[in-house]
Amino acid sequence: MQCPFCGKNSSRVMESRDSSDGLRRRRECLDCNSRYTTYEKTLSLPLSVIKRNNSREPFSSEKLEKSIKIAFAKRPVKNEDINKATLDIKKNLHEFGNNEIETDLIGQVVINQLKILDSVAYIRYASVYKNFQGIDNFIKELEILSEDEKQSDKIPVNQISFIDQIDS
Ligand SMILES: [Zn+2]
Repeated sequence: MQCPFCGKNSSRVMESRDSSDGLRRRRECLDCNSRYTTYEKTLSLPLSVIKRNNSREPFSSEKLEKSIKIAFAKRPVKNEDINKATLDIKKNLHEFGNNEIETDLIGQVVINQLKILDSVAYIRYASVYKNFQGIDNFIKELEILSEDEKQSDKIPVNQISFIDQIDS
């Protein structure tokens, strides 16, 4: 990373922040001590989503983040961990999908990550994902599911058997 003030290449990162389509870093030049912000768009490749009906839509980082947040609603998981998982998911999506990715694969990548972090979030996501038609109604279904759990705090048996199917 070249310093915009003196052109030297040595800098230290003072702060990193993940934003919806990239990584924002606050840096300090080790030569001239100038401070500047870099914006790394490595994760913002234009990714296109292939839906089950074969139509395509631009990948929305925002919607992905929203759906993951909903899955973690009221769960005792640190925001920091959720953000890290979200970042890993995005990295994986860009690795798997060159510039196009199928909705099924997106769902699979997400649940694989959630599984590591929290079983309830994982089950919520996975149980909605089987009926995944599009991200918008997906988010709606997740919201309904999270609401239901607030009342009953139980996972319906048919959803558990669905998870077994995914694992096998
Ligand atoms: Zn400098």
